[in-house]
Amino acid sequence: MIVGILKEPQGENRVALLPETVSLMIQSKINVLVESGAGTNSFAGDDNYTEAGASIHTRDEVISGSDIIAAINAPEKADLEKMKAGQLLVGLLNPFMNPDLVNDLKERNITAFSLDAIPRSTRAQKMDVLSSQATVAGYKAVLDAAGRFSRFMPMLMTAAGTIRPAKVLIIGAGVAGLQAIATARRLGAVVEAFDVRSAVREEVKSLGAGFVEVEGAQEDKAAKGYAIEQTEEFKEKQRQVVHDHAVKADIIICTAQIPGRKAPLILLKKTVESMKEGSVVIDIAASTGGNCELTRNGEVVVHNNVTIVGNSGFASEMPVDASSMFGKNLMNFLKLFITDEGDLDLNFEDDIIQGSCITHNKEIMHQRVREALKL
Ligand code: NAD
Repeated sequence: MIVGILKEPQGENRVALLPETVSLMIQSKINVLVESGAGTNSFAGDDNYTEAGASIHTRDEVISGSDIIAAINAPEKADLEKMKAGQLLVGLLNPFMNPDLVNDLKERNITAFSLDAIPRSTRAQKMDVLSSQATVAGYKAVLDAAGRFSRFMPMLMTAAGTIRPAKVLIIGAGVAGLQAIATARRLGAVVEAFDVRSAVREEVKSLGAGFVEVEGAQEDKAAKGYAIEQTEEFKEKQRQVVHDHAVKADIIICTAQIPGRKAPLILLKKTVESMKEGSVVIDIAASTGGNCELTRNGEVVVHNNVTIVGNSGFASEMPVDASSMFGKNLMNFLKLFITDEGDLDLNFEDDIIQGSCITHNKEIMHQRVREALKL
């Protein structure tokens, strides 16, 4: 089996596989072709890949010479046009938001797996790129906020006076939110968090943060642990509770998301206008609309001396560990359908293979993607 690694698009610093994982793949009888320069932004040069056992090629050679193309971001249409019928593509394809890509993959008879569709089961944990990349994002979001904040994070008692600890509010306590809590606590901040899923209350508390209760949240077992859209009445109540806590906060980290939908709007403009001057809001839900009314994806907005950062790309800002974790997840996923002899063995009875397959044999295989695209 031959796996091809492409250079990611402009602005993306990560790479799907680092040399450290390439050598493990080679031991598992999987050959690796790497596009020249693919690892440059993650500090992995072509030489490092060659030493690990991969071979370096042009982009076109990687596409034409591989059985499986592995990428973080979906390749461009021009790349898809060069792929052969029956070739495999594995990456973070975000199929719910990319109907044109899904149709192209289907039409070109590409067997595509989207790593963001892998079920969040215990068995799939070691392949869970959403978790590994969200861990990086939650950590980096707090460091970014601390860097922009004009005061200390921890409490300090010095000869020059006592410094109060910063107050951090975390909106959404999923993987990124929990990592943000842990990071802010390590920096010495006083942290509060809230989520619509009651199951996270104990996790939040065990990290040393306060859990903000908003009664009346709807949960649905069928959502498999994910949050669901809330009623208008609850949203109104939630915004009021957030308002009351936000006005006392120095830093707010927004992470609330609902899979396949727009991010919930939780922090209103009027709340930002009531926040302390110099406060910082980091919105990592920016790419799906953001939790803050003033968020602009990919931009830094300063409103009434409150800085609002819309950034869903923090994982790319810490590319070495992010790529390392992504690569290990990817290898574990590939090993699901590559035998010990290095042959392809796609078993669609396997819930992880079935759950992450978007297109195969000119069909859209994924039920929720079919529903989302109204097919
Ligand atoms: P996510 O990125 O989809 O959302 C982030 C958080 O925002 C979630 O905790 C969600 O409940 C919260 N949220 C959504 N709407 C909200 C609102 N209106 N107000 C406040 N918070 C809101 O979530 P995620 O981090 O990907 O985690 C989703 C689920 O997957 C969790 O149950 C997590 O425990 C589970 N998970 C399981 C595994 C596993 O078993 N392998 C791995 C990782 C995550």
